[in-house]
Amino acid sequence: MKQIKMLTIIAISALLIAFVYSQLESKPKEKKTMDKMPVEKTDAEWKKELTPDQYRVLREKGTERPGTGEYNLHFEDGMYKCAACGSSLFGSDTKFESDCGWPSFSEIKDKSKIKEIKDTSHGMIRTEVVCANCGGHLGHVFNDGPTSTGLRYCINSVSLDFAPDTSKSENK
Ligand SMILES: [Zn+2]
Repeated sequence: MKQIKMLTIIAISALLIAFVYSQLESKPKEKKTMDKMPVEKTDAEWKKELTPDQYRVLREKGTERPGTGEYNLHFEDGMYKCAACGSSLFGSDTKFESDCGWPSFSEIKDKSKIKEIKDTSHGMIRTEVVCANCGGHLGHVFNDGPTSTGLRYCINSVSLDFAPDTSKSENK
């Protein structure tokens, strides 16, 4: 009798364990990847298309050394585009000179062009800015901007391509 009781307890325990495991398994797996982007390429493809510096910043979320970027102190009329996919991002009219060492913009006219993601790396809480078209890392946005928007989009030069506004220079 004692043995039967024992066996029943073991059987019930086994069933319970099996049930708990099945529940764990069916739990939706945590999303590891970002939302699907209109432009998606493999790492190998990006490596081929981008320079090593661009790849390190855009795809591996690196940061160029402050004060070294091509567009840091660049003030011409035109449009700054994503260096990876060519999506138009920041107009030159929103660019301002900041002391941070990276190109800085006070606003982005079309907010759908970028995605803002909470970034807790390096012991800081920051807001990362990525291109909404290809997912390329652009930089960060801060709330300490000196202009009327109060925003400072701090963007890596290597993540940007500049397209000069030819209509303005032709009219001169
Ligand atoms: Zn892009």
